Amino acid sequence: MKKLQMVDLQTQYEFIREQVDSSVLEIFKKGTFINGPSVKEFQSQLEDYLNVKHVIPCANGTDALQIALMSLDLKPGDEIITSNFTFAATVEVIALLKLKPVLVDIEEDTFNINCDEIIKAITTKTKAIIPVHLFGQVANMDKVMEIAKSNNLFVIEDNAQAIGAVYNSNKKSGTIGHLGTTSFFPSKNLGCFGDGGAIFTENDDLAHTIRGIVNHGMYKRYHHDVVGVNSRLDSVQAAVLKAKLPLLDQYNERRKKASILYTSNFRDNKNLITPIVKGNSQSHVFHQYTLRVLNGKRDELSKFLNDHKIPHGIYYPIPLHKQKAYIDREHKNWFKKLLNNTKDYNDEDFKVSIMMSKQVISLPMHSELDEEQINFISQKVNQFFKDLDS
Ligand SMILES: *Cc1c(COP(=O)(O)O)cnc(C)c1O
Repeated sequence: MKKLQMVDLQTQYEFIREQVDSSVLEIFKKGTFINGPSVKEFQSQLEDYLNVKHVIPCANGTDALQIALMSLDLKPGDEIITSNFTFAATVEVIALLKLKPVLVDIEEDTFNINCDEIIKAITTKTKAIIPVHLFGQVANMDKVMEIAKSNNLFVIEDNAQAIGAVYNSNKKSGTIGHLGTTSFFPSKNLGCFGDGGAIFTENDDLAHTIRGIVNHGMYKRYHHDVVGVNSRLDSVQAAVLKAKLPLLDQYNERRKKASILYTSNFRDNKNLITPIVKGNSQSHVFHQYTLRVLNGKRDELSKFLNDHKIPHGIYYPIPLHKQKAYIDREHKNWFKKLLNNTKDYNDEDFKVSIMMSKQVISLPMHSELDEEQINFISQKVNQFFKDLDS
């Protein structure tokens, strides 16, 4: 059996080695490291793939979120509603911009933001909603867009985990809201060989603003029209992504197949809830295959898998409303005082995410996972529960 890994970047590389090596070597020879032709080429390739008017590449998925927020012309204290069960990057950028993160609970069946909770959290200061398509499954975007429209709010989709997912059988995830962002971190469904990210939009004005922001606010060299940042996708990463993008649908299809096999292997296991796919079959691209352990033994299962050298992850062990950085009571350092934009949260309002943080466990999931590996992992997981019963 091939070595078990959460992601297998080596095997994936083998299949695209020739194309990647030659295009990367050409960049080395020509010295076109920054803004080389591969960046523009990848950008338009991704615009075609997503069927979106503007893709603006940037340095990583966290920058993509920050820049998307910067483009909206918000003022300190404006409130941004997002999920409290996501990677910290989503919330961190809100806080850094002196905006106020307003965290809300998630749905039990999809791990995605709960739209009823969004409605409850809206105030006169609310300016935007950031749904996160967690683990690869598109959030309830029909409802999010409806809420946004009737309350005049922006929607930024954090699409870092769901690139290639299709919503309602026509739109690609990340192109439904006013802005979409993604990450090309190596372990994402479309990953480069370092850091990378991108912002998507149909809106010409926002696209123009964002193109300035990523480049120090410059539209003309040394004329700085807006306050910007330095956030670029470099030519080498773009060349890698150019080779991988044509394979993305195939990669996602293989993830889906792996998820189906896992789920069928767990069908008789009463201690587990397997992930569901809500909506059409392409609305989940399985960035993670995440189980819920119902008998309270998640941490023991984790130890058992460690003992059997089966990699796995717990995403996420602490809901964000319990992280010190985002809680009022923890106002100890000057930085948080300066920002003055934390909130006091009540566990009562986060019952689902608290429960999930204790139940979830993610198994190896990637496009190179084979049947033998999946069956081995499943058998070990099932054995853990059988041993408990006997
Ligand atoms: C990975 C990820 C990010 C951040 O992307 P980076 O490229 O690592 O900065 C943001 N949000 C979510 C949901 C992610 O999974």
